[in-house]
Amino acid sequence: MVRTDIEIARAARKRPIQEIGAKLGIPADALIPYGNDKAKVSAAFTGSLGGRPDGKLILVTAVNPTPAGEGKTTTTVGLGDGLARLGHRAVICIREASLGPCFGMKGGAAGGGLAQIVPMEEMNLHFTGDFHAITSAHNLLAALIDNHIYWGNALGLDSRRITWRRVMDMNDRALRDIVCSLGGVANGFPRQTGFDITVASEVMAILCLASDLADLQRRLGAIIVGYTSDRRPVTAHDLGADGAMTVLLKDAFQPNLVQTLENTPAFVHGGPFANIAHGCNSLIATRTALKLADYVVTEAGFGADLGAEKFMDIKCRIGGLSPDGVVLVATVRALKMNGGVGRAELGAEDVAAVRAGCANLGRHIENLRGFGVPVVVAINHFDGDTEAEIEAVRAYAAQYGVEAIPCTHWAEGGAGTQALARRVVDLAGESAAFSPLYPDEVPLFGKIETIARRIYRAEEVLADARIRARLQQWEEEGFGHLPVCMAKTQYSFSADPNLRGAPEGHSVPIREVRLCAGAGFVVAICGEIMTMPGLPSQPAAQAIGVNEDGQVDGLF
Ligand code: ADP
Ligand code: MG
Repeated sequence: MVRTDIEIARAARKRPIQEIGAKLGIPADALIPYGNDKAKVSAAFTGSLGGRPDGKLILVTAVNPTPAGEGKTTTTVGLGDGLARLGHRAVICIREASLGPCFGMKGGAAGGGLAQIVPMEEMNLHFTGDFHAITSAHNLLAALIDNHIYWGNALGLDSRRITWRRVMDMNDRALRDIVCSLGGVANGFPRQTGFDITVASEVMAILCLASDLADLQRRLGAIIVGYTSDRRPVTAHDLGADGAMTVLLKDAFQPNLVQTLENTPAFVHGGPFANIAHGCNSLIATRTALKLADYVVTEAGFGADLGAEKFMDIKCRIGGLSPDGVVLVATVRALKMNGGVGRAELGAEDVAAVRAGCANLGRHIENLRGFGVPVVVAINHFDGDTEAEIEAVRAYAAQYGVEAIPCTHWAEGGAGTQALARRVVDLAGESAAFSPLYPDEVPLFGKIETIARRIYRAEEVLADARIRARLQQWEEEGFGHLPVCMAKTQYSFSADPNLRGAPEGHSVPIREVRLCAGAGFVVAICGEIMTMPGLPSQPAAQAIGVNEDGQVDGLF
């Protein structure tokens, strides 16, 4: 019988967290333990690593996926274990889990099968409380806004132009649009607002891009919460909120150390949305990892058109990071879907569809090479993939001079990624010549066009005069150097989720732009993007519970 993820995780032979820290040379007194198997790494220690050389940075990204996810996290964990088995000092850097998908549809974020982070149930639930701290810091600012208006509104905030909403870490469509301050004079001035999920908060993006506590506070202060009636921006600093927000985030800002099923160290820290934010773990965790390990394996959310592009153009740019290699995860079923096969028929062998879908793989390989970083394809093996289908992927990638290596980490752990790990070591030894897609100086609309043309292979970007004028205004206000964060469907290179494979010549419509002055990027929204998801008709929550032994059941 196949064991479930939670059964595998529960049977893990975890080592005390001090022992995991010692593998990276972290002294016990630099660890702030949360129980026996989790710890935060102290700010004093992370702040002391500056002079050390960096290890190699390996990004795990993927082709355009199917709705279930294609195993980027699982492969990130499996590769970290594979590198450790080869005797390298390896560490994994991934995002923390949101309660929304955990209780909704997608499930947890700890990997799967024999390639998992443990303690899996805690990582997927409250963990070390970071998301609660972020929720509190975000909502403190919201409370200060309404309070400011209540006590006379000295800053002249226009209550119709407040952009700062409230957040909670739950999928709850009932809160998307609300009216607050109902109930009379004592409750303030009624106005329309709403809730987003915590991972969509700008505070989350800021925590993940800040370099130290001072930078964290500076970025929090720069958050624009709304505008006055003559359209002047009002910031969190204007409201005097940045100090208290930083206090609420001080502990959450320290990276969390846990381990894999094979006792490889893993930093699990931060979790910004991959659509209206950049979708990577925290910069401080990645930087700490680079100082402590020879190989740092990290993941970016969604397919490479979104995740890898934002990793390179936002995280690496802001953090001064330089990736040494990219692992492009492909699955036979995702390639079949990209080759036109419907979700219900993915089980049957279809070599022709795999070949057709490989166009999507090829496009991602070309794009990634455009960043000057060497690429290897990992075929994340699912039961039912046939030898002929795998061979089709291998042969296709070979045309690009890229190796496509089947990996069985889900079934076998790090033993299943030995060939991939060896290849990654070789690639990282080549001298990568990383450069982001566009320089800072390109105007904001030009940045959007560059991404649309070079990565999505679109013909044109459609944006009405209102949007272009807004971008122009932000340039005049001094935000023109910021990178752009694209919010687009993950299922296609285009803005149409049903356009699979490697479409060309399409149009990318920009529906809305948002300035995240604190996080340090401009969001360009193409199509419908949900910042407060809803639960499905059969939420995963209904299958989750505590068994007779007091253990959590039903997480996956
Ligand atoms: P991503 O990070 O790309 O969203 P995950 O690594 O979280 O994807 O995997 C999504 C789901 O697919 C998880 O439940 C995981 O256990 C499962 N999964 C991943 N790889 C395999 C595999 N090779 N065989 C079976 N299930 C897998
Ligand atoms: Mg993932």
